[in-house]
Amino acid sequence: MGMVIDGKAVAKKYKEEIIEFTEERKNNSLRVPCLATILVGEDGGSLSYANNQKKLCEQLGVINRQVITESSVTEDRLINIIEELNNDCTVDGIIIQLPLPGHINEKSVTSCISRKKDVDGLTDINTGKFYKGEECFVPCTPQSIINLIKSTGCEIKGKHAVVIGRSNIVGKPAAQLLLNDSATVTICHSKTANLKEICKTADILVCALGKPGFITKEYIREGAVVIDVGTTVVDGKLKGDVCFDEVIDTAGFLTPVPGGVGALTTTMLIKNTCEAMIKNVH
Ligand code: NAP
Repeated sequence: MGMVIDGKAVAKKYKEEIIEFTEERKNNSLRVPCLATILVGEDGGSLSYANNQKKLCEQLGVINRQVITESSVTEDRLINIIEELNNDCTVDGIIIQLPLPGHINEKSVTSCISRKKDVDGLTDINTGKFYKGEECFVPCTPQSIINLIKSTGCEIKGKHAVVIGRSNIVGKPAAQLLLNDSATVTICHSKTANLKEICKTADILVCALGKPGFITKEYIREGAVVIDVGTTVVDGKLKGDVCFDEVIDTAGFLTPVPGGVGALTTTMLIKNTCEAMIKNVH
């Protein structure tokens, strides 16, 4: 029987560090970090995610400035909002809740965020630095994935890590972080032949397909570290890509959904905001 990786418990350590940082700033009468969250339209899912972000910021002593626009906002207006936040020295980090409505070009808008405030690592400059191994903001979901793997105490160096999914926001950066830690990495996707056989050879398996319950015990090597990134709402409940009840018997470690990757992601965003404040010193 494998062990459950508790995302909340892993997040606790980072939360304590953030609180220590913000308390110290307050005690020295210094400004606390500020994360600006841009929300286009008040779509239920995004609004609830943004409100959870706000609640966590408050708990950790970080200011969260929510900028909510109507869903019909023009691209130019959105870019103006970003530029105002870029020039506001009381704002340290900027995040735009994605996806954006169809009439807005996500790439044009996100690329306007100052690279110094790009705490979710979305801009081209950050992405370039990330893949070149230079100092940059590491995207939050892949950062959670790697921290959850490290929390097991299992060494990454020399291990075979298989990542299912090659999106720019999860699969590719997660694979890069594993490579940075000297794993031998295989990236799989919807056109991969023999997926099951490849996964069976994984010491570390990262599942980011968005296909609820797809990964059954036949995909798992005995004792593997399995990270379930998938979050799909099925019958009103959040479901992961991994069939938890059967995989937990074979895996060495497994993240639950909810309570795994997602439980750490917002904390990583706030941690990046604190780092932005330190780096930009104002
Ligand atoms: P995405 O852009 O839809 O990418 C899914 C990837 O999975 C694609 O590369 C796709 O291959 C691959 N795939 C789909 N079906 C497959 C199959 N049958 N066999 C092998 N590969 C398959 O999704 P994403 O944005 O990366 O997100 C992945 C999941 O993570 C989603 O459930 C999302 O909600 C969740 N997520 C969670 C968090 C969190 O904090 N917990 C954050 C972000 C995302 P192709 O490239 O060939 O199409």
